[in-house]
Amino acid sequence: MAEPLRCDIPAQADHAQLYQQLVAELADFAVFLTDPMGGITTWNPGVERILGYRENEWIGQPLQIIFTPEDRAAGIPGREMAVAARDGRAPDIRWHQRKDGSGVFIEGTLVALKASDGKLLRFSKVMRDITERKKTEEALRVSEERYRTLFNSIDEGFCTIEVLFNANGKAHDYRFLEANPAFEKHTGLVGAVGRTIREFVPHHDAHWFEIYGGIAITGLPARFENPAEGLGRFYDVYAFRIGKPEERQVAILFKDITAQKAAETERERLLQQIEAERQRLEQVFAEAPVAIIVLRGPEFVVELANPSYHHLVQGRELVGRRFADIVPELGSDVWDAFHEVMTTGVPFVRDEFYVPYDRDGDSVVEDYWFNVLYHPLREADGAISGIVAVTVDVTHQVRARQELERVNRGLEEFAHVASHDLQEPLRMVHSYSQLLARRLGDLTEEQKEFVGFIQSSVKRMERLIKDLLSYSRTVHTVGEMVTSDANLEEALRLALSQIESRAAETGAVITHEPLPTVRGNVTQLSHVFQNLLSNALKYQKPGQPPEVQIHARRQEEEWVISVRDNGIGFDPRQAERIFGLFKRLHREDEYPGTGLGLAICKRIIERYGGRIWAESGPGVGSTFHFSLPAGPS
Ligand code: ADP
Repeated sequence: MAEPLRCDIPAQADHAQLYQQLVAELADFAVFLTDPMGGITTWNPGVERILGYRENEWIGQPLQIIFTPEDRAAGIPGREMAVAARDGRAPDIRWHQRKDGSGVFIEGTLVALKASDGKLLRFSKVMRDITERKKTEEALRVSEERYRTLFNSIDEGFCTIEVLFNANGKAHDYRFLEANPAFEKHTGLVGAVGRTIREFVPHHDAHWFEIYGGIAITGLPARFENPAEGLGRFYDVYAFRIGKPEERQVAILFKDITAQKAAETERERLLQQIEAERQRLEQVFAEAPVAIIVLRGPEFVVELANPSYHHLVQGRELVGRRFADIVPELGSDVWDAFHEVMTTGVPFVRDEFYVPYDRDGDSVVEDYWFNVLYHPLREADGAISGIVAVTVDVTHQVRARQELERVNRGLEEFAHVASHDLQEPLRMVHSYSQLLARRLGDLTEEQKEFVGFIQSSVKRMERLIKDLLSYSRTVHTVGEMVTSDANLEEALRLALSQIESRAAETGAVITHEPLPTVRGNVTQLSHVFQNLLSNALKYQKPGQPPEVQIHARRQEEEWVISVRDNGIGFDPRQAERIFGLFKRLHREDEYPGTGLGLAICKRIIERYGGRIWAESGPGVGSTFHFSLPAGPS
């Protein structure tokens, strides 16, 4: 800023001309002289230029007219003169008023010109128009303020740094010169200004120095994303050079995007996972041994079908065609099922669904059975737009089972008839061998022994036939009685009456808990009890009377009945085998039997939807368990 013009010229007449000349030259300055009261007496052309008054408008006016009305009201002009009168000069910088009323910013000095005896002669005022400078300063201040506000209020981190280079001209560190309030949030660094990054992170990643060094040298701004391992963060950065090149200063606008990066990585991972799952599903779809077809719309147009489905329909054209056009021979059951799924949204699941179908396209519709699942396809809004049909052709199995059932029925009938018919010749062998022995009279010991063999074989044969008959009878009758309820107390009572004498002979003690009602048939279930109880008595330990306990335990929808004895037991590894036909673990001469009793039990229990199994060990007794669906409580 220029010094205010000094004007300590004495008011002598011989100098007046020189003085006037001088002030006229000073076009940039407004200079005027007043009388001691402040009335304007002399001016220079600068006054007109700066304040807009003409000469005749000035002369005799009080100096006050150039002040703004506010300053005048506040008594500024008078105060200024008083200061100048007292101190010799009064510097001043303020808005003044032009003749046209507009403002002009003026830097000026009022000087009191005094005689050598100190008497005030006049005032001189020298003024300079600094409006432009003021405006520039104002603009600068506004922009500085704006910058500050931005600096302080932005969410992004902002800082300026000085890049530090080593002797080889390589950037190796940088010092923070300025940092905005958000800086701390984005870096976690507290009190960074004045310190270098290495003071915080000694092993700061080299790429940061390379990038900032480059910017400081070349002046080319850079925008990048980089991790800062030492800070454990990821940044999005815009950096540019500021100041003079030799100052090596860089301004950095940055943002911690660690969370965003992590989310991106996670999203990437999820997308990959989804893609992998999609591929897996596609593979399953392509390789599934079950036939899958996707049907859309009320017309059931084929959208997708896997290779198994193509195989099922033997090369018929599928995709884009109406299902009804592909397999017109399908019975109404299939269509009913489709429409039910479309209207109710409930999946349709059926095993061995009977479907008339012309597989080889020779116009002969054959019987087919499929295990099917028709599942509704829903749109995002929940509306049902189609069906996924999963189909497994089980025709082969159904036919095989039907055949097996037919053969079994024949076999059972044969066993029934044969065992029945065998009884008659056996009775003959029995009676005639007895008759023969009686007729022959005295027999040798050896002959007696032979007759004994015949008799005991006949007895055994009789037992076998009896058991076989009972087994085949089970087969014939069980299935028909599945749906009735049976009171197990009653079944047990029936069984006990059958083994009464045997129980008395062995001195057996048979106890039982209250028994429930189950789904089954009393007579059939009494056979089960009878077989298990007679085994418990038969396989008793020598010299130890049998003790048998019967328990009942509820398990969800079924009852488990246990028959426990204190007999000789058996090898637990044989626990499954003994339920097979004619399977025995003990010798006939020690423990007579046919090996059919448990097979009959198994047959009965399984027909009612239950299971039968055994637990035992040699010498520790045996427990036989069977389960049956619970009846009404
Ligand atoms: P059987 O008793 O006529 O031989 P089962 O089918 O009733 O035929 O039994 C098969 C085999 O299981 C028996 O031969 C016997 O070895 C064994 N077994 C059955 N019940 C018991 C039991 N309570 N204790 C020991 N072993 C038994």
